[in-house]
Parts: sequence; C-alpha cells; structure tokens
Amino acid sequence: MKTIEDLDVAGKRVFVRADLNVPLSDGRITDDGRIRAVAPTIAKLVERGARVVVASHLGRPKGAPDPQFSLAPVAGRLGEILGKPVAFATDTVGDSATATVAALGDGEVALLENLRFNAGETSKDDAERGAFADQLATLADLYVGDGFGAVHRKHASVFDLPQRLPHAAGDLIATEVGVLKKLTDEVARPYVVVLGGAKVSDKLGVIDNLLKKADRILIGGGMAYTFLAAKGHEVGISLLQEDQKGRCLEYLAEAEKRGVEFVLPVDVLVSKDFPDLKTKAPADFGTVAADAIPADQEGLDIGPKTRELFAAKLVDAGTVFWNGPMGVFEHPDYANGTKAVAQALLDSPGFTVVGGGDSAAAVRILGFDEKAFGHISTGGGASLEYLEGKTLPGLAALEG
Ligand code: ADP
Ligand code: MG
Repeated sequence: MKTIEDLDVAGKRVFVRADLNVPLSDGRITDDGRIRAVAPTIAKLVERGARVVVASHLGRPKGAPDPQFSLAPVAGRLGEILGKPVAFATDTVGDSATATVAALGDGEVALLENLRFNAGETSKDDAERGAFADQLATLADLYVGDGFGAVHRKHASVFDLPQRLPHAAGDLIATEVGVLKKLTDEVARPYVVVLGGAKVSDKLGVIDNLLKKADRILIGGGMAYTFLAAKGHEVGISLLQEDQKGRCLEYLAEAEKRGVEFVLPVDVLVSKDFPDLKTKAPADFGTVAADAIPADQEGLDIGPKTRELFAAKLVDAGTVFWNGPMGVFEHPDYANGTKAVAQALLDSPGFTVVGGGDSAAAVRILGFDEKAFGHISTGGGASLEYLEGKTLPGLAALEG
C-alpha cells in the first residue's frame, strides 16, 4: 500500500476520504475523536501545498439531503483543529462543490457535504456507484484513503473512486492496519476479547474467527442477552436477536471444544421504563442474577459481580481487543460496567485495543485518558471485519 509520502501533492487537488461520522446532539459534536484522528493527514497535505478536498459520510441519510446529517458543524471543528479555515461546500458534486474546489489555493482545505446525500454513494448497483465515483473524480487529481471507519463498505468514495485516481493510504489507515495486523499475527497471551454494544448480528461473525485465536471471550452489553436467551434464560424486554440463538449455542459449544473460556454476565442491571429515564424512580431499577431477569424488565448494564468477574479475566491479559460498551453508558446509571472494563484494560499489563465508534467515545466521555490505551481504533465494523479475516473493499482498492 502506498503512503502519502509516495504522492507528489504540491499544487494538486487531493481528495481525502475521511470518516468524520461523529456523534451529534442538537447539532453539537459530542465527541470529536474521529476529526482529530484524521487531522494529521490533512495537516501534512496542507504543509506540502496540496489543495485538500475532504469528504465523509455522517449518519445514515437516505440518499438525499437531510439537514440533521449535515457536515457543516464538522467543518467548523476541523478548522479549529487544523488552525485554519475550512471552506464548506453545501453539496457533494454540485455547483457548490465545483466552485469551492475551484477556489482552493495551495495549502487550503475544503469539506464537501455528506457523501450519503447522494444515492450513488451506497448503491448496490455497480453502474450507479461508478457514475457517482466519476463525478467525484472530476473534483480531484489524487486520492488519499483515510476513512478507516468506512473501509469495510463497498461505497463509491471508498471503493470505486480510488480505482479512478492515483491513490495512497493516509496515516490513520496505515496506523490502524498496523495495529490490526498485530492482533492477527503473533499475539501475547492470554489474548482476551471483550464484546458488547448493540449491533448484535453485525458482531457475532467475529466470534467465529476469534474462537480460533483468543483464549477468553467476555460478552456484555446488548449482545449478552441473545446468549442468555440461547441458554434458556428469561431476558425480559432486553435487546434480543431471536434468530441468532442457534448461532450463539454453536459458538458456546465450539468454545468448549477448543478450550476457549467464554464468559457471560452473571448479574445485570435492569429497568422497566428505559428510555424514559427522566421519569424513572429509583425503585424502578435494580440488580438481578443473569438467569433471573423479570419478564417485564430490560437489561441495561452488567452488574457488580460481572464487573469483578470481567476485571479478573483481564488482570493478566497479554493482549486485549474490546469492542462495544457493556451497557447503555450514555446514562450514568448504566455506565459502570463500561467504566469497569475500561479500567481493567488500563490495569492489565497487555497491549490493549479499543475498537468501535461508541466504545471509543465512551472511553473519552467517561473521562479516561485515551493515550493510556495501546490503541483506540476509529472503526468498529471495519476492525471487526478485519479480525474476521474478510477482505475490506476500501483496503483492497488502495492496494491495487
Ligand atoms: P460500537 O460503536 O462501539 O461498535 P455499538 O454501536 O454496537 O458499539 O453499540 C453501542 C451502543 O450500545 C451504545 O449506544 C449503548 O447504549 C448500546 N448498548 C449497550 N448495552 C446495551 C444494552 N444492554 N441494551 C441496549 N443497548 C445497549
Ligand atoms: Mg456504534
């Protein structure tokens, strides 16, 4: 894979496919980690006199403009981080984009509006995606892929565009791939994997491959309830992927066969009236054993015994990969599981990797020093698919 050092960028229009998909609340950026992660690549290109055209997706708009997913707030924050103005185009390939890019001088930066405001970006139809990539290609001379969080997507700006322009990987992608390689080659043992979060079916796939590599797999977050249900326990109104129960049982059997320790929560915090937390009375939540969740309640975090159990399983870890919060950490009542796991990673002697947009944000929002971790990945799905052993379209396109 070429790096940006291999490109002659001075005076050229360089398209940087970034992942600026940051969490927003009322139009305010609640965690700017992904912006800061790509800023060094942009700064380097600026330094070398490139005309930098940054593009990204944000959220999941339906192939048409939708103001709630505008990248406008991100342009401001990117400008603050870079210490120079970032021109914002109010469309992606239309008049505004064309004029904004044409106006760029050497060492200047523009951000295009959300790529996903265009149906071609995510289209499954090669021709439709290709046509959009052709339009994007008119805006640049060179392509730098640095949106690690999106490299597992076969999208126009990720997969098709680099095939149309001389290309290289940005520093963020180079770093991310380096770390993931470490997790797939020789790892220091015990290798402990912690999985949680809400995207259960997306994440089950990785277990398949990790069962061949890891020594221990700890399951918390919304994921845990499908496993608990598969084992025949009542999970009330907790997050449940009914159709994945069979797969969960297969994984449990496979883990047993291979001697991989598979650790599920032993207790959980439950509540009746989430997400209506504003009206929640303290009596409405409590701790129950994982096999005794009341039918009318929802599991929202791992309980205190599980926090200790998970910490004990991490205390001697040589390598840790963690993806997915242990509970609904956005609410302080359900953040303790996630906090405990983050602390256990810091206390462990091993190389610790945190993957996943929400997991990385949780670590920062809960007040941990991100530099204390071995690596905080900007990509959840991307890092999982890499560890699953899949070919990632955005990396394959940069190889070619
Ligand atoms: P990541 O972005 O790190 O890959 P996900 O997107 O899969 O993680 O999941 C993050 C979300 O999972 C958080 O918003 C959190 O509130 C939610 N979550 C965690 N535990 C539970 C649970 N028990 N029930 C419902 N949602 C949960
Ligand atoms: Mg997420």
